[in-house]
Amino acid sequence: MMTNDEYLAAVEEAHPCNDYHCEIRAALNAGYGHVAAWLLYGATDEGTIRVEPMDFDSDEWQDWLDHVRTYGRRCRDCGAINYADDDVWEPQTCGDCGSDQLVRLD
Ligand SMILES: [Zn+2]
Ligand SMILES: [Zn+2]
Repeated sequence: MMTNDEYLAAVEEAHPCNDYHCEIRAALNAGYGHVAAWLLYGATDEGTIRVEPMDFDSDEWQDWLDHVRTYGRRCRDCGAINYADDDVWEPQTCGDCGSDQLVRLD
Protein backbone atom coordinates (compact mmCIF):
# COMPACT_ATOMS: atom_id res chain seq x y z
CA MET A 1 0.00 0.00 0.00
CA MET A 2 1.38 3.39 -0.95
CA THR A 3 1.57 6.35 1.40
CA ASN A 4 -0.14 9.64 0.60
CA ASP A 5 3.24 11.17 -0.28
CA GLU A 6 4.03 8.32 -2.64
CA TYR A 7 0.68 8.79 -4.34
CA LEU A 8 1.36 12.53 -4.63
CA ALA A 9 4.74 11.92 -6.25
CA ALA A 10 3.41 9.26 -8.62
CA VAL A 11 0.47 11.35 -9.81
CA GLU A 12 2.63 14.49 -10.06
CA GLU A 13 4.89 12.58 -12.43
CA ALA A 14 2.11 10.92 -14.42
CA HIS A 15 -0.09 14.00 -14.67
CA PRO A 16 2.05 17.18 -14.78
CA CYS A 17 -0.76 19.57 -15.72
CA ASN A 18 -1.37 23.02 -14.27
CA ASP A 19 -4.97 23.49 -15.29
CA TYR A 20 -7.03 25.24 -12.65
CA HIS A 21 -10.12 23.44 -13.91
CA CYS A 22 -8.50 20.04 -13.36
CA GLU A 23 -9.71 18.14 -10.30
CA ILE A 24 -6.57 16.02 -10.26
CA ARG A 25 -4.43 19.16 -10.08
CA ALA A 26 -6.69 20.53 -7.35
CA ALA A 27 -6.32 17.33 -5.33
CA LEU A 28 -2.54 17.38 -5.76
CA ASN A 29 -2.23 21.01 -4.72
CA ALA A 30 -4.31 20.37 -1.63
CA GLY A 31 -2.24 17.31 -0.70
CA TYR A 32 -4.86 14.63 -1.35
CA GLY A 33 -2.51 12.04 -2.83
CA HIS A 34 -4.78 9.02 -2.64
CA VAL A 35 -7.73 11.01 -3.97
CA ALA A 36 -5.64 12.31 -6.88
CA ALA A 37 -4.43 8.81 -7.71
CA TRP A 38 -7.94 7.48 -7.51
CA LEU A 39 -9.25 10.24 -9.79
CA LEU A 40 -6.46 9.54 -12.26
CA TYR A 41 -6.45 5.76 -12.20
CA GLY A 42 -9.22 4.48 -10.01
CA ALA A 43 -12.04 4.57 -12.49
CA THR A 44 -10.15 2.38 -14.90
CA ASP A 45 -7.75 -0.51 -14.58
CA GLU A 46 -5.15 1.34 -16.57
CA GLY A 47 -2.16 3.06 -15.08
CA THR A 48 1.15 2.05 -13.71
CA ILE A 49 0.34 2.08 -10.02
CA ARG A 50 -2.16 0.10 -8.01
CA VAL A 51 -4.56 2.43 -6.25
CA GLU A 52 -6.27 1.32 -3.09
CA PRO A 53 -10.05 1.45 -3.53
CA MET A 54 -11.69 4.66 -2.32
CA ASP A 55 -13.89 4.44 0.75
CA PHE A 56 -16.54 7.10 0.17
CA ASP A 57 -17.39 7.16 3.88
CA SER A 58 -13.80 7.93 4.86
CA ASP A 59 -12.66 11.25 6.32
CA GLU A 60 -10.26 11.50 3.42
CA TRP A 61 -13.03 11.51 0.82
CA GLN A 62 -15.36 13.69 2.89
CA ASP A 63 -12.55 16.22 3.43
CA TRP A 64 -11.95 16.26 -0.31
CA LEU A 65 -15.65 16.91 -0.98
CA ASP A 66 -15.46 19.77 1.53
CA HIS A 67 -12.47 21.12 -0.34
CA VAL A 68 -14.39 20.97 -3.62
CA ARG A 69 -17.38 22.70 -2.04
CA THR A 70 -15.13 25.43 -0.64
CA TYR A 71 -12.85 26.09 -3.59
CA GLY A 72 -14.72 24.74 -6.60
CA ARG A 73 -16.42 27.25 -8.93
CA ARG A 74 -18.87 25.75 -11.37
CA CYS A 75 -19.12 27.16 -14.88
CA ARG A 76 -22.74 27.94 -15.69
CA ASP A 77 -22.08 27.48 -19.38
CA CYS A 78 -20.24 24.18 -19.62
CA GLY A 79 -20.51 22.74 -16.10
CA ALA A 80 -16.76 22.47 -15.56
CA ILE A 81 -15.51 22.93 -12.01
CA ASN A 82 -12.73 25.50 -11.72
CA TYR A 83 -10.69 25.66 -8.53
CA ALA A 84 -9.65 28.69 -6.56
CA ASP A 85 -6.19 28.52 -5.02
CA ASP A 86 -6.94 28.56 -1.30
CA ASP A 87 -7.98 32.11 -0.50
CA VAL A 88 -5.22 33.65 -2.56
CA TRP A 89 -6.37 33.35 -6.14
CA GLU A 90 -9.83 33.23 -7.64
CA PRO A 91 -10.57 32.06 -11.20
CA GLN A 92 -12.29 34.76 -13.26
CA THR A 93 -13.05 32.74 -16.36
CA CYS A 94 -13.69 29.06 -16.99
CA GLY A 95 -10.51 27.22 -17.92
CA ASP A 96 -12.53 24.98 -20.18
CA CYS A 97 -14.71 27.34 -22.24
CA GLY A 98 -13.65 30.87 -21.24
CA SER A 99 -17.03 31.87 -19.80
CA ASP A 100 -17.04 34.35 -16.91
CA GLN A 101 -20.17 32.81 -15.43
CA LEU A 102 -18.56 31.05 -12.48
CA VAL A 103 -20.60 30.35 -9.37
CA ARG A 104 -19.73 28.95 -5.97
CA LEU A 105 -20.91 25.47 -5.22
CA ASP A 106 -22.21 26.06 -1.71
ZN1 LIG B 1 -4.97 17.80 -15.10
ZN1 LIG C 1 -17.01 26.60 -18.97
